[in-house]
Amino acid sequence: MKIVKSRCKPVSLEILSVLGKRMSLQDEEKNYLLHLEKGFEGETQFDTFVEQLTCEGLVLNDLLLTINGTTCQIDALILTADTVYLYEIKNYQGNFQYKSNQLYTFSGKEVVNPLIQLNRTATLMRQLLKQLGSNLKLEAAVLFLNPSFTLYNVPVDKPFIFSTQLQTHFAKLDRNPLPLSKKHQFLADKLVLLHQNDSPFARQLPDYTYAQLRKGLTCPNCGSFDLALTQRTCHCKDCGHTSPLNEALLKQIEELILLFPDLHLTKNLLYDWFDGKVPKKKIWKLLQTHFKRYGSGRGCYYQ
Ligand SMILES: [Zn+2]
Repeated sequence: MKIVKSRCKPVSLEILSVLGKRMSLQDEEKNYLLHLEKGFEGETQFDTFVEQLTCEGLVLNDLLLTINGTTCQIDALILTADTVYLYEIKNYQGNFQYKSNQLYTFSGKEVVNPLIQLNRTATLMRQLLKQLGSNLKLEAAVLFLNPSFTLYNVPVDKPFIFSTQLQTHFAKLDRNPLPLSKKHQFLADKLVLLHQNDSPFARQLPDYTYAQLRKGLTCPNCGSFDLALTQRTCHCKDCGHTSPLNEALLKQIEELILLFPDLHLTKNLLYDWFDGKVPKKKIWKLLQTHFKRYGSGRGCYYQ
């Protein structure tokens, strides 16, 4: 399998994770963060699975396309010689039941049936394939990756793939002996070109200001503020992770840029962002080595 478009961590997930450790989030925001984390974890698991396949195929992850005026999000698309596989990936946990085309938890709470989304996306994708001159057939399915997920009373004809069926499903796909042609690569390239970056589905993030955020270094592994710094290393007292100090510092700067993309980096700003725990001389060296300097004297900054 060739990965034509790889999956990136959603920006809203990155920002919320950083905010989550530096300010207190509302319950609703915490739930949204958890939802994003679980979703991304499931998708990453799927990617690991797909990477092991050896048949000829082109993989496009995380596509956002507007087809005939309607925007749709596709978790994963695999192009094989004769079929395009479209997957909606779900990382649900626990017991659910299927009743009159809806999903319910055992406490009776209704959950949106992912089939509605899947059917809509599949219809649009078929139209797009046609418009792009492709006659490949499209198969769409919802993948439930979590082994702790059980769906009771589900009719067998629904295009659901459960964790216990993953192996068989992909083994079958992997047995496809047909080779790909230039036509497939052309189609994949075209889809990547049509991909849009800004998701209209991303929810509004909470408001935040620099002043309100907790300053200080955090562990690159678990996010804890409880660190022991030496000249060259950063050791986390919570999870035991040790990383080179420069690496940890650069990660903190990346977080700052992620939250405030327009901010001018200066020695004094970073001194404050690191909560006074890192000598200014070291910060200056780091800026000189990894960033570009603009201006001179007191007004100089880095980007
Ligand atoms: Zn840690």
